[in-house]
Amino acid sequence: MPIDATAPYDDDNIFAKILRGEIPSTRVYEDEWAIAFEDINPQAEIHTLVVPKGKYVSWDDFSAKAPDEEIAGFVRAVGKVAREKGLVEPGYRLLANVGADGGQEVPHLHVHLFGGQKLGRMIA
Ligand code: C5P
Repeated sequence: MPIDATAPYDDDNIFAKILRGEIPSTRVYEDEWAIAFEDINPQAEIHTLVVPKGKYVSWDDFSAKAPDEEIAGFVRAVGKVAREKGLVEPGYRLLANVGADGGQEVPHLHVHLFGGQKLGRMIA
């Protein structure tokens, strides 16, 4: 079910539980600012989710409220995951769904990282 991107942060959302280690994930990266794990329903050969540790509902919430240090840390983490996966050449795609029209389903900000194949013009 698409979410309301303006709703307050819900501590019981599934990515909050993954961050707390309460439910399993195939974690491939972690630093001070973010974790990354493989999407359980991959839409490309490589489909990894990068999730900030801070409690932000969406890209809107994050870009409006997060301190600059946290924004920089998260953006660098996304780039690092892509580099560690060897995707810089031939390339990759980033996507953040926001709110109902964006098709966001999990109310904790996440960036989709797609790669490992030639991607069509639209995905996810
Ligand atoms: O951007 P959106 O909120 O629609 O994406 C949520 C993503 O989280 C989906 O791609 C879904 O497959 C993934 N997911 C996951 N592990 C879960 C629940 C959802 O990888 N336990």
